[in-house]
Amino acid sequence: MAGSDIVALIVAAGKGERAGGEVPKQFQLLAGLPLVEHARRAFAAHPRIDRIVTVLGEGRSAVGETVVGGAARRDSVRNGLEAIGEATCVLIHDAARPIVPADVIDRLLAALQGATGAVPVLPVADTLATKDDALGDSIDRSALVRVQTPQAFDFTAILAAHRAWPESEEATDDAQILRGVGHAVATVAGDPLLDKITYPGDLALAGARLGAGMRVRTAMGFDVHRLVEGEELWLGGVLVPHDKGLSGHSDADVALHAITDAVLGTIATGDIGTHFPPSDPRWRGAESGQFLQHAASLVAAQGGTIDFVDLTIICEAPKIGPWREPIRDSIAVLLGLARTQISVKATTTERLGFTGRGEGIAAQAIVTTRL
Ligand code: MG
Repeated sequence: MAGSDIVALIVAAGKGERAGGEVPKQFQLLAGLPLVEHARRAFAAHPRIDRIVTVLGEGRSAVGETVVGGAARRDSVRNGLEAIGEATCVLIHDAARPIVPADVIDRLLAALQGATGAVPVLPVADTLATKDDALGDSIDRSALVRVQTPQAFDFTAILAAHRAWPESEEATDDAQILRGVGHAVATVAGDPLLDKITYPGDLALAGARLGAGMRVRTAMGFDVHRLVEGEELWLGGVLVPHDKGLSGHSDADVALHAITDAVLGTIATGDIGTHFPPSDPRWRGAESGQFLQHAASLVAAQGGTIDFVDLTIICEAPKIGPWREPIRDSIAVLLGLARTQISVKATTTERLGFTGRGEGIAAQAIVTTRL
């Protein structure tokens, strides 16, 4: 199998009513993000996944490349496969399983070296019995496994199997559809973290599992720009009226630069100068919001989320107080966070030093992420 063209197909078109709530379960929030977005980020963070396609119900939207699903799950998968068109292999995954451990993906891709399909399975730990027969005889569970997703397939084989599957017949999963055309399916060890969100309590359990697996990172950023006449004053993405503005290669938004450095610091990936060198003419006069959004996208690509931003602007003038809320809102919009996750503070230096003399503005930021 070639190392490229591995596509993740996330199926999020179901109604998912058993988990409770008015929203289909794959759109319910876990740690502030819809389940489907957790799954997408897990695949995005895996180095071997080249492309991610999400199948949605009519009228729904999600991050990234999306396709509209069909009436039954297998119709949705079929639509997704047809939309992918060409690939070496595909991992078909249910959005109701928001936590996707990278090592399960590794095991599936390794198993595909010698098989057309591979699925993660777990042993059955509980006693199984038939309900209708007053529990009757218990069932021998040694021969049984729980089958999870993602399920990995040779792309051409699973697309052909879906096309050949009889219209009138239901299928429990894609492995069954592949077996339907005579292919064997390999099994790899699954993971309890992959458990499906089905009932209301499952969401809280997934939240606890997710939190336990994440590390909090805190990093700071600091920046200074010179105040000069004839420049605009941009602070936190807001144009603040003042008789002077900040000079620099970009729009010189000292506040966004400090936050960008703090965000980059949480993933230890250099600083704003590393990613947007002042020597590069592309960044002349650039809006600093794009620097911040790029830094945030690097955190997201590692499966991380930004929890909190605390910004301090240090200047004698202008007064920041009246601009505090607009700046909070601006940063919240840039980062896709709630206003309550952004703190904006300001201080003077009692007329001391360069900020006290009005020669420049300094900003410092502390950002907390989880990843
Ligand atoms: Mg700067």
